[in-house]
Amino acid sequence: MAKAVFTAAGGANFIGASAYILKLGSKNLSIDWGQGVSQNSPDGPQYDGHLDYLLISHGHTDHVGLLPAALRRWPHLKIFATKETKEIAKTVWHQTIHRYRDKNHFDSNRAPALAPFTENEALFAEKAIIVINPGEILELGGEIKITPIPAGHILGAVSFRIDFEGETYFFSGDTCFHESFFVPGAPLYSLDRCRLLVRESVYLNEDFEDRQKIIEDFQQAAAGVLDRGGQLLVPALSIHRTQEMYAIAVTAGLGPVYVDGSRGATKIYQQYAPRCGEILENIPRFSSHHERTRLIRSEEPAIIIASSGMVYENTLSAIWAENLLFREKCAIFTVNYQDPCGQGFVLNNSRKGQYIPFNGGIIQRLCEIRHFPLSAHMDKTDGQEMEERLNPDVVVYTHGEDKQIEKYIKANPATANRKKIKAELGKEIEL
Ligand SMILES: [Zn+2]
Ligand SMILES: [Zn+2]
Repeated sequence: MAKAVFTAAGGANFIGASAYILKLGSKNLSIDWGQGVSQNSPDGPQYDGHLDYLLISHGHTDHVGLLPAALRRWPHLKIFATKETKEIAKTVWHQTIHRYRDKNHFDSNRAPALAPFTENEALFAEKAIIVINPGEILELGGEIKITPIPAGHILGAVSFRIDFEGETYFFSGDTCFHESFFVPGAPLYSLDRCRLLVRESVYLNEDFEDRQKIIEDFQQAAAGVLDRGGQLLVPALSIHRTQEMYAIAVTAGLGPVYVDGSRGATKIYQQYAPRCGEILENIPRFSSHHERTRLIRSEEPAIIIASSGMVYENTLSAIWAENLLFREKCAIFTVNYQDPCGQGFVLNNSRKGQYIPFNGGIIQRLCEIRHFPLSAHMDKTDGQEMEERLNPDVVVYTHGEDKQIEKYIKANPATANRKKIKAELGKEIEL
């Protein structure tokens, strides 16, 4: 029998519902237990077997979103996460419950949709998490050793090195090697060799421009909008990107800068982020919809950073966009990956003067729209260098678009010493 078996129960050749099962001897462990985030991914992980351990790489919904529901199936599951990930997960679960509550409130004609877990289950999950620290080796039953390694992606994010019976297995999680405002880049970790590398593949075929240059371009373009008397909307992911964009704007002397949404995540960054200082204190916010309307009507120059980053229908950023789209002096700058099913994707692909479907209506786009690719993932070269440093016998590509993974493996085929495999839902890979 194989010593180890890997199966993607989610987050395979698509982004969303991440859950990677590794069977080592008689023990089964999973890295992450996420929620589906786009139409291309299932709602949650697809796995019926037994589970002994759950290691959480970071606090994004697609990695931790359904953890409270997992405990319904395996109440004695041992769960491990860094203290920052634990805090972020709490706010993510809280938001999920609230989103369902709001949806049912506004959609009172339909049968109420049930949240995937209750408030009590979220509380139970929080208590079940055992806090781990990057660099500290954790010994599990069955002679399994785990080493969390900082992954740079967001606050608290880690990769996992797993050692079992003389072999090493490495899970990158979502990784960023470039330093961002609040989080240092992932260290350049290396191994003589390892049996398996399971890596993320969000930007498998793309190299990014110099990050500092993108930041400077953003600051310059934002100053231009304010100078011409416009209001600028920056739709941003509520964890990490919102805090980073706020810091990028205020440290360049731009203002006033308002933040709408992302209260929970911002508090966690204030408390735990290295180098945070006082920068996130006293952020101008809106305490009612009336205050938002007042700023819009005043037409005073301002930057508004609002969630969601992909401008999904009727979210805060979508409400702001609806009010700025038809005003020529205004602008919308997107700053993260855009889901082809999201409204941010529609905005980025629209022309000035075009009528576009938006929030259930039709609006003429007259404002300026630009995209600044400030990703917190590794790019093509970063990923290739990581593969060289970890020297795996087998690489499994996960958490990326199917076509991109196929394109990459075709252009960078397997060698005698290294197998390259596209992850597919439920496909077992024996090691
Ligand atoms: Zn992530
Ligand atoms: Zn992810």
